[in-house]
Amino acid sequence: MPHAVTLIPGDGTGPEIAEATCRVLEATGVQFHWDVQQAGAATLAKQGTVLPDEVIESIQRTKVGLKGPITTPIGRGQRSANVTLRKKLDLYANLRPAKTYQGLRSRYENIDLVIVRENTEDLYAGIEFQRNTAEYEELAELIGRTTGHHIDLNSAISIKYISVAASRRIVKFAFEYARANKRRKVTAVHKANIMRLSDGLFLTTANEVAKEYPDIQYEDRIVDNMCMQLVQKPELYDVLVLPNLYGDIISDLSAGLIGGLGVAPGANIGINYAVFEPVHGSAPKYAGQNKVNPMAMMFSGVMMLRHLEERDAARRLETALMQVLAEGKAVTYDLKPRPDDPTAVGTSTVADAVIEHLHALS
Ligand code: NAD
Repeated sequence: MPHAVTLIPGDGTGPEIAEATCRVLEATGVQFHWDVQQAGAATLAKQGTVLPDEVIESIQRTKVGLKGPITTPIGRGQRSANVTLRKKLDLYANLRPAKTYQGLRSRYENIDLVIVRENTEDLYAGIEFQRNTAEYEELAELIGRTTGHHIDLNSAISIKYISVAASRRIVKFAFEYARANKRRKVTAVHKANIMRLSDGLFLTTANEVAKEYPDIQYEDRIVDNMCMQLVQKPELYDVLVLPNLYGDIISDLSAGLIGGLGVAPGANIGINYAVFEPVHGSAPKYAGQNKVNPMAMMFSGVMMLRHLEERDAARRLETALMQVLAEGKAVTYDLKPRPDDPTAVGTSTVADAVIEHLHALS
């Protein structure tokens, strides 16, 4: 039986990397029925939304999605399709491994981090109040009356909220992941010294959950210190669990540690559904040029194969990707010493090379 999977190519460079990724996934011998759903710039122009209801309905049917990046215009208009998708399907855990492979150009060796980012709350929930609106003024008045902080009316307000329930389930997810994958330590990351109530609640909840897992080491770090520690001695860390915004930032930092966004995969996981996508965005300046690295989406495909319990195919695809990286020939510009390296290949050539290695492995 083929696996039914919702395929969202996305926009910008999304369709190119999605095409390359589907080709390598099919070359593993696993059969897929792709339910292709459009979202992003094209649907905004035609349907007035970056995330049509059909996309959500499709994932509700198939339970599994593979997604390319979607552009979010900065500071105006539509809410992010990515954030909306994660919220609507309650994909509460964003799992982003960061691992060095031979052949990657990194300042570090042997990095093997897993970022577990809470995906539904925090400043990312998108609860914002625009200046010069009645709601804004009501809120500013309430804040002034209850806290004594008088907010300039010529401001904007974004709400950061963190609940016990969401903190508990993401920290449990991190510990369960650590246990299932034989990881040694979980580090909770926060800024509870300043945001004593919201981040404080995340931290106290994490401390409580940690007691249920005596077999796994546990510690916490303040987020700014965590950034420095990751740059100085990343080998000390293993699984990191973070609220939404810090998780997003630290996962890009971790992608930088291993050689860049071109190889950083991700998964958004909930109780009923899972959507796999690269960490990177739509890199719109390269759209249509057959230039960007499809490997982050291909590694996301490896994660999807594991989720579908196609373990052998996952192992073979990961091995093929590692072999292509180690050879260093069929790789895109971002993995070369200089971005204008004339030996860099295009997106589709990477897929061809991975498929060649897959055939040799089977
Ligand atoms: P980006 O990740 O698109 O690009 C950042 C840098 O990394 C650029 O220099 C880009 O060229 C490079 N890069 C990204 N992917 C690459 C790849 N596969 N191969 C080689 N180089 C790659 O980030 P941005 O420029 O901040 O965002 C562009 C758009 O993407 C924005 O609208 C943003 O909101 C959106 N975005 C979407 C997602 C998502 O769909 N999950 C995630 C992040 C950003």
